[in-house]
Amino acid sequence: MDALGAEQHMPLGTEQKLVFTIREKCRVCYTCVRECPAKAIRIAGGQAEVIADRCIACGNCIKVCSQGAKVFRKEIDPVRDLIQSGARVIACIAPSFPAEFHDIQDFRQFVGMIRVLGFTHVTEVSFGADLVARRYKDHLSLGQEAISSDCPAIVSYIERYYPELTSSLANVVSPMVAMARVVRMAYGDDSKVVFIGPCLAKKSESTEIDNAITFRELREMFENSRITPSKVDPSNFDPPFGGRGAIFPLSHGLLNTMEVTEDILSEKVLVAGGRSNFLDALREFEQGNLTGHHLHLLCCEGCILGPGMSPYPNTAASSLRFAKKARIISYANQKMAELDKEEWSLKLEKYEKIDLSRTFTKRDMRINKPNPEEIKEILYMIGKYSYEDHLNCGACGYDSCEEHAIAVINGLAETEMCLPYSIERLHKYIRELNTSNEKLATVQEALRHSEKLAGMGQLSAGIAHELNNPLGVITMYSNILKEELSTDNPMHKDLDLIVEQADRCRKIVGGLLNFARKNQVNITETDVIQLAEHSISSVIVPSGIEIRFFNKVTDPIAMLDYDQMTQVITNLLKNAIEAMPNGGEITLQISDSNDQVVFRITDGGVGIEKENMDKLFTPFFTTKGIGKGTGLGLPIIYGIVKMHKGEISVQSNADSSKGLTGTTFTINIPRKRLM
Ligand code: ADP
Ligand code: MG
Repeated sequence: MDALGAEQHMPLGTEQKLVFTIREKCRVCYTCVRECPAKAIRIAGGQAEVIADRCIACGNCIKVCSQGAKVFRKEIDPVRDLIQSGARVIACIAPSFPAEFHDIQDFRQFVGMIRVLGFTHVTEVSFGADLVARRYKDHLSLGQEAISSDCPAIVSYIERYYPELTSSLANVVSPMVAMARVVRMAYGDDSKVVFIGPCLAKKSESTEIDNAITFRELREMFENSRITPSKVDPSNFDPPFGGRGAIFPLSHGLLNTMEVTEDILSEKVLVAGGRSNFLDALREFEQGNLTGHHLHLLCCEGCILGPGMSPYPNTAASSLRFAKKARIISYANQKMAELDKEEWSLKLEKYEKIDLSRTFTKRDMRINKPNPEEIKEILYMIGKYSYEDHLNCGACGYDSCEEHAIAVINGLAETEMCLPYSIERLHKYIRELNTSNEKLATVQEALRHSEKLAGMGQLSAGIAHELNNPLGVITMYSNILKEELSTDNPMHKDLDLIVEQADRCRKIVGGLLNFARKNQVNITETDVIQLAEHSISSVIVPSGIEIRFFNKVTDPIAMLDYDQMTQVITNLLKNAIEAMPNGGEITLQISDSNDQVVFRITDGGVGIEKENMDKLFTPFFTTKGIGKGTGLGLPIIYGIVKMHKGEISVQSNADSSKGLTGTTFTINIPRKRLM
């Protein structure tokens, strides 16, 4: 296999195709779409596929694909079979061969090598070019404007995409077909003809050719049979010998072969070679801007740059074009010097009798232009809402956003091919991903926290449960002792203290059980407005502090444990008061939605230090001095809220450089407690 990966074994189902994609190698860069003059490459499901009916076999896609994902059909095996069949097989060598086989010193060695492959005759297509050039000259002298038809890819293109212009094509066969007719006349009608040249489109140009292979394939045949120049007997081509036709493969080759002077050249004949040039020329010709001119169109910039030439590793496909040109010129000079002009003229006269006419077939493959509404719809899909959005950047392989949209409608392209649109979508996805990442982190943190609290809850519940019984015993026996002692006994006071402290212990134990959600809730239909007002009235508000109540509830009824929720609100209000040693305002706001009620307590107090935020609900965490705080207020609140299947959250700022300090606790309680 060579550097650009022309592959003999084609995937199943591609037999009729000349050019196809190796899926595994295609990186979907759209370069082939851009370079395909026929727009014969469909992108579907993120894969580039050559549409055989639309393909003109120009080979542009093969030349531009850096991944070697575009390959052409090889015909080495059928040629070998033809030779082995014992038939008279005549090789017709395209005049561009000196540009390809620069590594072979003498063309006679090259001819000898082809003979070793088993070809019975080796002839030069340049003689066919000589004959064809004369026909064109006649055309020109008659003043008939026409489009030259010697390039099979151009003919294919016009038949498919400018079917009306087929009548403008010069009805002259190509040099290859002319030569096939010559050799059959010279060597017998039953001769088999194999064309060898730089062109892929030749493979499907004419049924008069038995097989057409490229120079690349010829090289491979030499390599397979280990044929080298030094090992063969040099020999000349078989007659008839070509003359000026040797310069045919250059971009102005036809004109030079015709010996058309520069004068006429500038006046009457316009030469356009290469993808964009020939497309422009055809467009202008169709518009009627080129009347009176003969168009000589070539799909490549001269046949010497055809896709059947070996690629030069690490160089652009078109490189070495001047070296190639120089080789053709030097070979042509050598030929002309050696040519027996008299003999040549006789041969031209002899074969001029051959009918060199041909016909063309309209194969209309133009895509339908959809109505403007349809186009607009697709343009909207790729974010092109107004004309300013049409960047026409060409990244999709189409010249304009509108052409891209038309291709989408005709099933040739996908909206994803629009690069600016895809980048924009990617940015959006990244933003969305970032947001969900952040959300995930918050949820993870909350989960970690509640797992920690659940673990503590279990421990607390265990301790509380174990302490409950001994505390009961202490209280009971202290009370019995107290009753047995007279009130003036000095131990009476001590027993009072024991009972009092045991009672305090029981309260702590009760708090812990609350935190661990081991207590029962007593759910009743509750008016939350009344609950809030009652809670406010049960706290002692020191002077300098004001509690303001905001009621935004539309439906005050919710299923709650009245006493426990009162404890929640009063505890939060007490904490708020304790956080405001210098006084200020506390707000309690209640609001609701269909399925929940929300209590929000905001203070303008000292705030909570960042590092304390995730310790708040841990039992016995307090920042208040010994004897002042128990650190059980928030754990109890947490337990009660959880028993109601509700949520509690805190926002706080303790840093006055970042704005007003203060804390907000928010509690959401489902209106109907779901079990
Ligand atoms: P205690 O009030 O007995 O300290 P809590 O569980 O009620 O226990 O509160 C724990 C700690 O959380 C408090 O010591 C205090 O540091 C902090 N805290 C709670 N509420 C507030 C608030 N509104 N403003 C500032 N800090 C608060
Ligand atoms: Mg407290």
